[in-house]
Amino acid sequence: MILVGSKNPKKLLEVREILAPLGIRAVIAVNLPEVEETGASFRENAALKALAYASFLRAPCLADDSGLVVPALDGEPGVRSARYAGEKATDEENVRLLIRRLEERGLRGPAAYFQCNLAIAVAGPEPRVVVEAEGRVEGVIVHRPRGEHGFGYDPVFLYPPDGCTTAEMDPDRKNAISHRGAALRALAQKLGDPALRAEIDP
Ligand code: IMP
Repeated sequence: MILVGSKNPKKLLEVREILAPLGIRAVIAVNLPEVEETGASFRENAALKALAYASFLRAPCLADDSGLVVPALDGEPGVRSARYAGEKATDEENVRLLIRRLEERGLRGPAAYFQCNLAIAVAGPEPRVVVEAEGRVEGVIVHRPRGEHGFGYDPVFLYPPDGCTTAEMDPDRKNAISHRGAALRALAQKLGDPALRAEIDP
């Protein structure tokens, strides 16, 4: 069994679907401590959270960090994706700021990607990260939001192979192509290693 350190029940469902065939039961952890995301990368933040949650819960814990990267904006919004327009910013405010920043720089339809990093940490006298995984999905930013599904930057993230934004996709399709899905599948592959599995679930 693994505890999933996330406040988002939708994420738990995705984790469950991918880990269940491996015989790993995922259970959401509630009342987790607030962890300051002080890392300079998604990878660092995923590890920080996994370590903090595993020590708090005294059990193996999976954590993630994700966001949008626009290379032409020097990587913005990056690790600040959720709070790009301010600590309590709404998705709409973040999207509006992104479009404004692009327009200020005269950038139209720049390439972008969503990235997700996952880390599993185990407790014990020295909590440590035992496995990590990463996934990305590449797209292009559109300047007029489109679609009602998803969250965050989905309405302005165009996925070229489908010719629509990730907010216009049905959720199954988004799971199939998303950065989170890719990271989870990469993680599942690594968890096929019995030695690693024994470390997590002795
Ligand atoms: P977190 O990893 O859930 O904290 O996500 C950080 C932020 O990145 C979210 O608040 C969104 O703004 C953005 N983000 C991450 N994944 C997605 C996605 O699949 N679609 C749209 N925005 C996302």
